[in-house]
This record gives sequence, C-alpha cells and structure tokens, in this order.
Amino acid sequence: MTDRYAVIGNPIGHTKSPLIHGLFAQETRQDMSYTAIEGPLEPHDAFAATVRAFIAAGGKGMNVTAPFKLKAFAMADERSERAALAGAANALRFSDGRIVAENFDGVGLVRDIEVNLNLPMAGRRVLILGAGGAVRGALLPFLAAQPAELVVANRDIAKVRALVEQVASSGPLAACGYADLEAMGQFDLVVNATSASLTGDLPPVPPSVFSPAGSAYELAYGKRLTPFLRLARNAGVLGIADGVGMLVEQAAEAFDWWRGVRPQTRAVIDRLTVPLD
Ligand code: NDP
Repeated sequence: MTDRYAVIGNPIGHTKSPLIHGLFAQETRQDMSYTAIEGPLEPHDAFAATVRAFIAAGGKGMNVTAPFKLKAFAMADERSERAALAGAANALRFSDGRIVAENFDGVGLVRDIEVNLNLPMAGRRVLILGAGGAVRGALLPFLAAQPAELVVANRDIAKVRALVEQVASSGPLAACGYADLEAMGQFDLVVNATSASLTGDLPPVPPSVFSPAGSAYELAYGKRLTPFLRLARNAGVLGIADGVGMLVEQAAEAFDWWRGVRPQTRAVIDRLTVPLD
C-alpha cells in the first residue's frame, strides 16, 4: 500500500512541501503520497484530532508548519533533543502507535550554509537576528558547527536571554539587544531569522556588523532582495542568500528520517529559487 505523508498548517495554500517531497519520491523511487492539509484553528483540540485521523487512515508522517509547531510538539510521545529545546516540532513520524517529534529547521539551515553555500562556520564569528521558533530550533545545530562566537540579538532582550540560558553550557553563546551590536565589530556571517522581511521591514541592525569578506543569510525566501539583504549588499557584502535552500534541506532531513534514503537537493533548490535581483 502507498505510504501517506502530508504537511499540515493554516493557511497552507502557499506550501511548497508537496512539490518538494513529490520530486524527492520520484528521484528515490519511493511508493508514497504527500498532500497538504489545512489544519483546524478551533476548537483547541481539533488539531490533534486531525493528526490522529490521518494516522488512522494510514499516515506515516507529517511536516508541521505555522501555527501548529507547538501543538505538534505537545501531542508527541517522544521528542528529539533539538525539538525539546525548540519546544516545537516541524516533523512527526508515526510508528508502532507512537508519535515522534523532530525539528529539522536548524539542521536544514546549517546544511544549506555549510554545504550548499560552502561557508563553514568553524572558528567564525556568527550573528543571528531574532529569537523566535526558527532560532530556537537552530541554536544546537549552529553550536555543533563550532563557531568561534555565536551572538543572538533580539528586540525582546528578556526573551533572547532566557533562550540562551537554556543552552549556555553548550558553547560560546551570547545574547544581546540591537543597541549592543554597534560595539561588537564585524561578523563573518549575519543571519536574519526575524520575521521582519515578511512585512517588508528591517530589523534595527547596524551596518557595522557586516564584513565585506563575510556573508549574509535571510531565512525568508522567494522575496528577492529584502531590506536586510539590501542593507548587507550596501555594506559591501558579496555573499548573500535567502532561505530556499534551508526549506529544501529541512525537507530532505525529514524525508531521510521517514524513508531511510537521502534525496538529492541541488536540482530541487534550483527549481524553487527566485533570483534575488
Ligand atoms: P517567530 O514569529 O517565531 O519569531 C519572529 C522573530 O522575529 C522574533 O524574534 C521577533 O522579535 C522578530 N521580529 C519580528 N519583526 C521584527 C522587526 N520588525 N524587527 C526586529 N525583529 C522582528 O518566527 P519564526 O522564527 O518562525 O520565523 C522567522 C523567519 O524565518 C520568518 O521569515 C520565516 O518565514 C522564516 N523561516 C524560514 C524557513 C525556511 O525553511 N527557509 C523555516 C522557518 C522559518 P521579538 O521577539 O522581539 O518580537
């Protein structure tokens, strides 16, 4: 019988996941289907009921997107360490009557930066902007890449401090506000993990953090030159990229986790890429 997978979110019309996983399945010759499900926002327990109905109908796994990542995490029977730190799941696997939660956003991001863009972080100064769900899932994978220093800046300083305190023992990690960045010099890599670009806004980051020899990465994708990427380019940064590679890499991680076979990502990234200019 064809194994069933799906992505669940609300809204879900924009999702690229069925296309990505369809291409992965074709390439690796997996007998599986992958659909998009618009999850119910109300009542409170309707999300879990939808997931359970999918499992009862033979579902083997799900990707989870906004606004359900916390609910997916909460209903799991088992959770990976990175999902536990994030307090959020972006992938679920259903086997032997159990729900297992994972979070591949961070590993997908790090793989895109280090492998696809060929920017090893070991020994480098790295700055992340934002302290939302994407950053929560990314801290452990970033620290595993062994940067010389990992600074996380956020508007809400109490929030970023609390987040960093949870992992303080794992590496050279510091939290700060945007006003502190002026005094911190240049970073080899600046990652915009705020949601500012979704509304065409710019986080209040000073241009002094950019190094012309360094790189800038925007998690949002398909939005061409965002205000953040424009600021980086105006500061002389040549290496700029958006998050389309992260999207495809986190999907590849989930696919491998579910099917035990790792798909190729390059052609899929190329197919989904919207040129920055
Ligand atoms: P959250 O809503 O969880 O967090 C939003 C963060 O952005 C908060 O830290 C918030 O700061 C900050 N923020 C929002 N607006 C501004 C602003 N104008 N100036 C400064 N900071 C701002 O979002 P996520 O973490 O889920 O997503 C973040 C981004 O990553 C989005 O653009 C999303 O599309 C993208 N993303 C991309 C993925 C991919 O595969 N490429 C996967 C997942 C996410 P504060 O706490 O102070 O309010």
